Amino acid sequence: MWKTIWSMKTPPKVRHFMWRFARVSLATGDQVSMRSERRGDDCPFCNLRETQVHLFGECSWVCRIWRASTLAKWFEMRDDRGCLEWVARVAQTATADEFADWSVLLWFLWKERNAHLFNGAKLAEEEIVVRAQAYLDDYRQYEETLENSPGPVMAKTWQRPAMGKIKVNVDAGVVDGGLGLGVVIRDDRGRFVLAAAKRVRYGRDPELGEALAGEFGLLLVRQHHLGSPVLETDCLTLAGKLSTAREVHTEVGLYVEVYVS
Ligand SMILES: [Zn+2]
Repeated sequence: MWKTIWSMKTPPKVRHFMWRFARVSLATGDQVSMRSERRGDDCPFCNLRETQVHLFGECSWVCRIWRASTLAKWFEMRDDRGCLEWVARVAQTATADEFADWSVLLWFLWKERNAHLFNGAKLAEEEIVVRAQAYLDDYRQYEETLENSPGPVMAKTWQRPAMGKIKVNVDAGVVDGGLGLGVVIRDDRGRFVLAAAKRVRYGRDPELGEALAGEFGLLLVRQHHLGSPVLETDCLTLAGKLSTAREVHTEVGLYVEVYVS
């Protein structure tokens, strides 16, 4: 079961979340109230005692969500003995992909619960299901992009940017129904800062993909205030266009213009 968790094809934070889930070490109400007097152990959605099994398997809020999803059978496998037994059961029965689907939804439920508890935010049940599925779809497309690309995003010849700058490596590939875009950002000492992936549902042209990936990367830099970026793409034709910045008439050129202006 631990192997199933750690080998899951999901972002590392989901694997880590599942590890904590199975060890029942999430800070649910019952755990927090055991350790401090700060708040009671009420579930933020109903007023019953918030244990992990309650929050993820029994609360009326969570039941509405998993019934809206295609993953109900994994939730119905919950085990009164606890979450460890529950995870073990699902790990035994589900395929690797099904296990990952379930884990990502659990992780979204936990994020939603925290947003609700600490910020009063609340998404519609269907919206949570849709977002969890889209998140994993995007991740899978990203993985596929990496597998299909001629070389790894981080080439062996990766070079540090000038001091104080960050390097944004982007890559793209044609995937089912559109383009997959990948971004890896590292600092001037080569330390990992951020990685992101997304899929766009239009276009089949790898060069357009590289341009969109570049745009996506620069947007992330701005959104996260990461500083002064150096953009690096594996697509040589686009790199050429970026450096000459003449070609603004092609579809790609339009995007290139965004950075050189
Ligand atoms: Zn509840």
